[in-house]
Amino acid sequence: PLTVGILALQGDVREHARAIEACGARAVSVRRAAELADVDALILPGGESTTIDKLTRIFSLAGPLKERISAGMPVYGSCAGMILLADEIADPATDRDGNAQQTLGGLDITVRRNAFGRQRESFETDLDFAVLNDAVLSTAVLNDRALSPAALANAAPVEAKASNHARSSVPVHAVFIRAPWVERVGASVEVLASVQLPAAAAAPDNGSGQPENTRTARIEGNTRAVAVRSRHLLATSFHPEVTGERRIHELFIRMIRGEA
Ligand code: GLN
Repeated sequence: PLTVGILALQGDVREHARAIEACGARAVSVRRAAELADVDALILPGGESTTIDKLTRIFSLAGPLKERISAGMPVYGSCAGMILLADEIADPATDRDGNAQQTLGGLDITVRRNAFGRQRESFETDLDFAVLNDAVLSTAVLNDRALSPAALANAAPVEAKASNHARSSVPVHAVFIRAPWVERVGASVEVLASVQLPAAAAAPDNGSGQPENTRTARIEGNTRAVAVRSRHLLATSFHPEVTGERRIHELFIRMIRGEA
């Protein structure tokens, strides 16, 4: 079967493994370059991006990871994983020796870490995730705890598409934990879901008097992207792996198979 590696240096590896297996693929932990070589695709879990960044170099994985990402390996990053996939961090952390955190890159976005501010450090909200509305969900996903009976009952009628497939337009209940947001997307990047900020939570002023993002300006006003996709790369600011939501992992698996 399809083998999806979970980068297992730090973070919520087990939750991602469970989600992948609920979608019918095989999940394996990746800590060494030899393990990376054996996977069809990779998940960068949530956790602490500065720690994972350091460990990728300590474990001699940074180089092989970058190589496989640029060679087209499908990668999904959640939260810290999104930060690791980003080409640019607006506010990278600096360690005691003055070294700024690095990313693996590949995804033409700029993220801001811990972006939602102190009051909203962790929060939950329902996201409109239009790309999932047309998705043909597998029975495995529909039968999983992902979609509670209540959610399904409230959703637009789940029409049978084939005997074992159905459509769904249930919003994604998203959990954000000290999450980043995306404040610049390159032309190749598709925004899959956004949150509307309260007016008080406007973007931090960069002090220049200029709009923060002059290179690419698809993210404006009080909206911030929290799920993006570009070719073989998928990233979310939130953690579908902790809520039993399986459709994001299923979308990733369809991307790996070239079906989405
Ligand atoms: N704030 C964390 C970071 O910068 C990400 C948090 C998370 O993955 N839940 O890495």
